[in-house]
Amino acid sequence: MSKLIDVIPPEILQKHIEASAEEASRGCRHNEGGPFGAVIVDKEGKEIARGHNMVLATNDPSAHAEITAIRNAASSLKRIDLSGFLLVTSCEPCPMCLSAICEAKIGEILYGATRGDAANINFSDDDIYEIMKKYRMDKPEVKGDWVRVKRSGEIKKEMVRKFGDKLWSTFGIQIEDTLDNIAIIEKEDKLVAVGFDKIDRKKDPTAHAAISAIQYATATWEGASYEEWKNGFDLTGFDMYLNYTPCPLCFAAIHWARISNVYCGMEPELQKGADFSKVLATIRDDENMSLIEKHQLGRTACLVPFREWEKRTNKTTY
Ligand SMILES: [Zn+2]
Ligand SMILES: [Zn+2]
Repeated sequence: MSKLIDVIPPEILQKHIEASAEEASRGCRHNEGGPFGAVIVDKEGKEIARGHNMVLATNDPSAHAEITAIRNAASSLKRIDLSGFLLVTSCEPCPMCLSAICEAKIGEILYGATRGDAANINFSDDDIYEIMKKYRMDKPEVKGDWVRVKRSGEIKKEMVRKFGDKLWSTFGIQIEDTLDNIAIIEKEDKLVAVGFDKIDRKKDPTAHAAISAIQYATATWEGASYEEWKNGFDLTGFDMYLNYTPCPLCFAAIHWARISNVYCGMEPELQKGADFSKVLATIRDDENMSLIEKHQLGRTACLVPFREWEKRTNKTTY
């Protein structure tokens, strides 16, 4: 199959990269999130969905522009497999978004600004790249990480002891018997959120259990002080329990959510489409194994929303 990047005329690609930049500007003008936008394009070069960073608007640390665009596309097409589409993004994606792009089976991306450009306006994802480069599914602990990950074969028993009654009475779930992935967030022994895989039900390729739990926690937690609400997407001080080992997408989302401790099971998350070792290779930029082909175009247009962001936040880091 020929590459979309070769099939779609360059002037159309340029138009889409400019649209992703406009989308980035729109999001930051409305204070919905950082200055990032994305557009999903079909093989005819037609836009099928777009999105911008919605982290501030939704308190959802996973609502980066690329993921928002993927969610919008999957929901409007009513399918989780977006193979054959091109993702056009105003800035080089972070590891969480790269993982989500793999999960959605999008094989080609076009980006404008670079990671370095984003770092210049204080959106550095160097740390998370470093962590993801060291991540191994069979050994999830990463040295120098800000999230402590503990893996245990006894995790289901521990989850039953701590949350079993509540899960049974509220959801009718016996965690010992279930084959579903379950994620639980607690703070100081108070159950804050429960998440399940909702990929097919929500037609959202990113709706893994850990991400569902994070979204639930940041949207509903009642114990928050004003300070905590103000930074509602930051779950520092919260702990997470998973009956599985997080896939790269979940692991990166846990990091963006700044969860302090993760207790997880020995079983790898059920394979959902993407090959995890290839997802990690994609993040590591291993060209031989990467699931995504990356192209760059229209950097100048994509720096415009960055400048607007700087003006809004009075930061002059250039
Ligand atoms: Zn991202
Ligand atoms: Zn996952």
